[in-house]
Amino acid sequence: MKYCDDVIIKKIDEYISLNKNKIVDDLLELVRVPSVKGEAKPDAPFGEKCAEMLDKTALLFEYNGFKTDINHIDGYALSYYGEGDKSIGLFAHTDVVPVDDKWQVCKPFEPVVKEGYIFGRGCNDDKSGVIETLYAAKIIRDLGLDFNSKLVMFSGSNEESGMEDISAFAAKEQMPDVSLVPDAMYPCICGERSMIKFDIVSKNKTTTIKKFHGGEAFNIVLGELNAELVYSDELWMQISNVCGNNENFVISKDADTIYITSKGVAKHVMDAETAVNAAMVMADMLAKCPAIGDNDAKLLNDISSYLKDCYGTGFGIAHNDDIFGKLVCANGIVRLTENGNIKLTFDCRIGLSYDLEDVKRQIHISCGDAWTVENADGSIGYNMDDDAPAKRVLEDVYASISGIDGVQGYRIAAGTYARKLKNAYPIGTVAYYKAEPYPMPEGHGGIHQPDEMMSIDAFLEAIKILVCLLLELDKLIN
Ligand SMILES: [Zn+2]
Repeated sequence: MKYCDDVIIKKIDEYISLNKNKIVDDLLELVRVPSVKGEAKPDAPFGEKCAEMLDKTALLFEYNGFKTDINHIDGYALSYYGEGDKSIGLFAHTDVVPVDDKWQVCKPFEPVVKEGYIFGRGCNDDKSGVIETLYAAKIIRDLGLDFNSKLVMFSGSNEESGMEDISAFAAKEQMPDVSLVPDAMYPCICGERSMIKFDIVSKNKTTTIKKFHGGEAFNIVLGELNAELVYSDELWMQISNVCGNNENFVISKDADTIYITSKGVAKHVMDAETAVNAAMVMADMLAKCPAIGDNDAKLLNDISSYLKDCYGTGFGIAHNDDIFGKLVCANGIVRLTENGNIKLTFDCRIGLSYDLEDVKRQIHISCGDAWTVENADGSIGYNMDDDAPAKRVLEDVYASISGIDGVQGYRIAAGTYARKLKNAYPIGTVAYYKAEPYPMPEGHGGIHQPDEMMSIDAFLEAIKILVCLLLELDKLIN
C-alpha cells in the first residue's frame, strides 16, 4: 500500500529544504543549554538548568504559534495543534545525560556542524525529538495538510533520571488515543522489558577488606574493581601466589595495606553475556586465600554466587520469556559502605511473563539472613500486539518512504516514555539510511557518549517520516 501521495511528499521535501538552516539553528540553540539533572529548587524539580531548558522549549513552541502550557511543578510542557475529538500525542525529552572530559570534536554544550553532522550533547538524544515534533506540526499547519485530530506535544525534563515528569503526566492529563515517542528507532518499538534496579548490602561488616570500590553506572557491567586489605605477610604471600603473572590483577603493598585492582570486561547490561564482572574476578581470587579470614571469605563466596552468571541464577530468578528471551541481571557498582558493609548494585531486565513482584520476592528470599535488599525500584514494561493497526501503519509508512521492505517493530530491553503511556510507540529521530558514514573512535559519537553526533540529512528525513506517520495515524483513528 502506498502512503502519503507523491504531491504531498514533494511539498514536504520543499518545505524542509527551504527551512533547513532554521531547523538546524533551532536544534543547536536547544543543545546550548546544559540540561543535566541538578539539585531541586522551587519550580525547578530537576534543577535550574532543566527548568531553563523547559522554558526555552516552551517559548520556541509559542513563538511558532503553538499554544503551550508549562507545568513547572512536574517539569513538563504541553503544546497543542489542531482540534478534534481524537488526539495524537508526541513525547520528547529536553534533559540530557551527564558529560565527561573525553570530548574531542567540541565542548558538549557548544555544538558544532561539521561535514553534514551536528555534534553536541543531546543533539540526538533527544533534543532532535523536540525539534522533529515542532517542525512536523509546523509542516502540517503551514502546508494546510488534512488533519482532524488534536496534536498534544509533550516536552519533558526528567526522562534520563527517573521519569517523574511522564508519571505526573499520566496521573494528571488525558491520555492521547495514540502516541509516538520520537526517541528511539525505526520503524518503531513495540515492546519494552520490565526492569528492576536494586542494591544488596551485606549484614556482616568486613574484617580484612578496607576498601572495595568500582563502577559509576548501574547499567554497565563492572569493568574494574579496587580493593584494599589489611596487610599481613601470610595474606600477601597467598595473594602473590594466586595472582602470579595473571594480567587481570595489579597488586602492591605498603606497611599496613595490600592494594589490588582486578580487571573485567565492561559492557552494557544487555551485552552482559560477553562481559566479565571485575568483582567476580576479585572475589574468586580472594576466596582462594585462607588468610583473608572466614568472615570475609564467606562474603566473597556470596558475591561470587550472585555474580556467577548474568541470568540471575544466583538470585534464583533465571527465566526465559517467549517474547523477550532470557532475563538479564548484572552488577555495575560496588562499594564498601561507611559502616564497613559491602554493597552491590544490580540492573535486571525481565520479560513480561515474570511478575515483577515475584521477582522482587525471590531476590529477598535468596538474600536470606546474610544480605539485605535495598532501593528496589521497578518499572513494568509493555508489549504490543504484532497486528495492532497503529503498529502496522508505522511499519508500512516507514517501508514506503525508506524503500526498505519488511522491517518490523522491535522489542527492547531499554525504557522510554512509552512504558508510562497507553498505546504509545517509540520511533526514530534519525533515518540512518540517509546518513553518510562518519568515522569516529570507539566509544565516541553515539547517544550518551562523548562527541554525540547526528547526521543532518538523516534528521531532516525523520521530520518527513513523522509528518507522514501523523497523517496516516490521523486517518486511522478518525
Ligand atoms: Zn532519550
